[in-house]
Amino acid sequence: MTKILEVKNLNIGFNLSDSFRQAIYDVNFSLEKGEMLAIVGESGCGKSLSAMSILQLLPETAEIKSGEIFFNGENLLNLTQKQMQKIRGKKIALIPQDPMTSLNPLYTIGNQLLEVIELHQGLKGQEAFDVAVKALEKVKIPDAKEKMKSYPHEFSGGMKQRVIIAMALACNAELIIADEPTTALDVTVQAQIMDILKDIKERFNISIILITHDLGVVAENADKIAVMYSGHVVEFADKNEILNNPLHPYTKALLNVILDINSKDVKTIEGQPPSIMDNISGCSFHPRCKDCMNICIKEKPNNVIRNKTIVACHLYN
Ligand code: SF4
Repeated sequence: MTKILEVKNLNIGFNLSDSFRQAIYDVNFSLEKGEMLAIVGESGCGKSLSAMSILQLLPETAEIKSGEIFFNGENLLNLTQKQMQKIRGKKIALIPQDPMTSLNPLYTIGNQLLEVIELHQGLKGQEAFDVAVKALEKVKIPDAKEKMKSYPHEFSGGMKQRVIIAMALACNAELIIADEPTTALDVTVQAQIMDILKDIKERFNISIILITHDLGVVAENADKIAVMYSGHVVEFADKNEILNNPLHPYTKALLNVILDINSKDVKTIEGQPPSIMDNISGCSFHPRCKDCMNICIKEKPNNVIRNKTIVACHLYN
């Protein structure tokens, strides 16, 4: 398999008025062509920040302190903004939580598709129109030709997400970053969108990074999982390893939440994740961890390899 993306030792923080606060610590993950990687964790754990750093779409106060992000062997962090603009939307596409952040309510779906096709593929006229219709068909939008004339408000949330995915396909994106793409949708539509993402991954060999707080969403769809907690990747492995043989106490707690939801006994993980303003010594999960030992309060755990899993926990040192 060919590696399409490799994030190495990524450190990101925020420049606040009086201090610099680190938010992402030595994050590492990688993705092969045609694979889906799910980055999972509670809100505020740094999963979106890590993924958005690939596109270099970070909040103004955020700063990448160190690290490397290789896309097809090229370190994106060495590129200028102008060079990044050629990659964004063309080679790497974003599917946001709210599709209306990418769709303009004043223009038809067709106009917006044609605009990105002209910008990224250099196609015009009938040729561009055919590519647009085909892209809508690939995401199973019925009467695609007719729907080109529709405005975003005429589409449901799920249909709008399909249009965003169609835009990525129309530009031949090689990597799609889907940031909680189903959170605002009802359960049936969520499943349809995940089916479409899985389908395009398999049919067109597209790589996908799926950002989600819900391990249940990834159980069916992802190939690999990176579990994030408080700015750290605490466990990284193939999906089956993580689901069948979780090692990190936080991963186990996340899995327990899904199991309990399935048995209708809704439960959450005890305690709150820390904010970047908290100074927690040692392992940042220690205040919530049932397996916490003395060393966990004093020393940050390093990554270790156990079987096929990379895990950061003193239980495995
Ligand atoms: Fe729990 Fe210690 Fe492992 Fe952190 S390092 S997850 S506190 S056992």
